[in-house]
Amino acid sequence: MEFDLLIRNATVMPGEGPALVADVGVRAGTIAAVGGGLAGTAREVIDATGLMLCPGFIDLHAHSALEPFRDPVLEPKIAQGFTTEVINPDGLAPAPVDPARAEARRLYLQPLEGPGPEPWPWTTGEEYAAALEAARPATDLVLSVGHNAVRDHVMGSANRHPSPEEIRAMRREVRRGLEAGARALSFGLIYLPGLFAGTDELVALAEEAAAFGVPLVPHVRNEGAGVVDAVGEMIEVARRSGASLHISHLKVIGDERLVEPLLALIDRASQEVDLTFDQYPYGAGSTMLSALLPPWAQEGGAEAILGRLADPGQRARMAEDVRDGLRSWENIYASCGPENIVIVQAAGDAARHVGRSLAEVAEDLRRDPFEAALDLMAQTSLDVAMVDHYASEATTRAIFRHRLALVGSDGIFGPRPHPRLYGTAARVLGRFALRERLVPVEEAVARLSARAARRARLDDRGRIEVGLRADLVLLDPERFVDVATYDDPCLSPPGVRLVTVAGEAVYRDGRPTGARPGRVVLPQVSR
Ligand SMILES: [Zn+2]
Repeated sequence: MEFDLLIRNATVMPGEGPALVADVGVRAGTIAAVGGGLAGTAREVIDATGLMLCPGFIDLHAHSALEPFRDPVLEPKIAQGFTTEVINPDGLAPAPVDPARAEARRLYLQPLEGPGPEPWPWTTGEEYAAALEAARPATDLVLSVGHNAVRDHVMGSANRHPSPEEIRAMRREVRRGLEAGARALSFGLIYLPGLFAGTDELVALAEEAAAFGVPLVPHVRNEGAGVVDAVGEMIEVARRSGASLHISHLKVIGDERLVEPLLALIDRASQEVDLTFDQYPYGAGSTMLSALLPPWAQEGGAEAILGRLADPGQRARMAEDVRDGLRSWENIYASCGPENIVIVQAAGDAARHVGRSLAEVAEDLRRDPFEAALDLMAQTSLDVAMVDHYASEATTRAIFRHRLALVGSDGIFGPRPHPRLYGTAARVLGRFALRERLVPVEEAVARLSARAARRARLDDRGRIEVGLRADLVLLDPERFVDVATYDDPCLSPPGVRLVTVAGEAVYRDGRPTGARPGRVVLPQVSR
């Protein structure tokens, strides 16, 4: 047989099940043969003795919706072996969008997703997908329908329940996205305007996801003191709608005693609901700084928020709510404390605060730390992001060990990102599995590949098997480990020899090749 690429004597991780030493032959973008001593010639032959060959990794929570318009190579992702990314998580998506509201949407998404092209040349999900594919990303990008985008499109950022007609309109938009090939319905119940949605609204839209067999993927309403109730709400939505449920970045912000009851709830619910979750393997989160604001202060979107930040009376009310808390509100500021919230990205002059905690910024400005946070939001027009340290290493590992855990990097691009952008896959496989043996190595690989593919209904990838796409990661298990840190985050893991997307090398010996074979538009899942 004539191959394009022949990898000999690799320790092959099939995606599920035990490793075997074998040769793998690739032809026309597909895995053409797997076996011992394959006969044949190839344009390129690699002796992979002592190296581990895995299916390309799948990032189940990626903020890569607009980055490809700036840098389609997506080096932090391919350098750790990610070949497929599920985008538009947290309900947040650049489409569908009303042209009159596109600028407000861009302002709001910017700290998480970057700005994208100027102006956005799309209104519908199909137009967005076409523009994204035309940017020629290196990885495959799998769309989700974002509930927040749909709600904003139909209702603006209103803080009220939808009318029956608005529910019908939102269901139509969800269906349209799923018919275009989206593989999830994502929710962001701390973000605009999803935070104004009640449980019944979520159930109505979840019924559309159930009809297509794609999971609900929520950032739940509260990851702090109210996390058990908030996860319980999504379990109820799954149960009532019949949809499967994949909870984004499971964690507890603040009180670690809640981890045990939370995992117990998930165990119980998994007996009647098709349930999984993902985790980024770190004890700190990262998001837009405006996530510190109480829900009422976010009503009306970016411009309304900026108006309130200019009003001393409204600022005093925000400070009061942060101090006293509000029922069922997450209150990240009070849970973490200003010394544990670090500015990682800020527009304009505020960039000089990058790398400092809010406590340090406050000292510098001789301000109260929460007032300093409000100043930064106002000064940057909300283009400011944080890393919030909320959990111990032990708790992060306790969640990681759970049998239903999968992997989502939640990687947010920027000059000083959370290290998860560069380190997630290597921390899961290299540190937690290969070095610390928290789970077996084949279990870590399954979470990064075969089981993730099944979750996202991607039947053509995720395993090393004849006929599947040649998305492959060849790595040295002795060297592959995360090296990105909070202080020095832009470091890719060592030990990655080769990464292919559909048989094409996108990363080789520590460098991107420049090839960008990724696709965006995927066929609809069979209903
Ligand atoms: Zn999230």
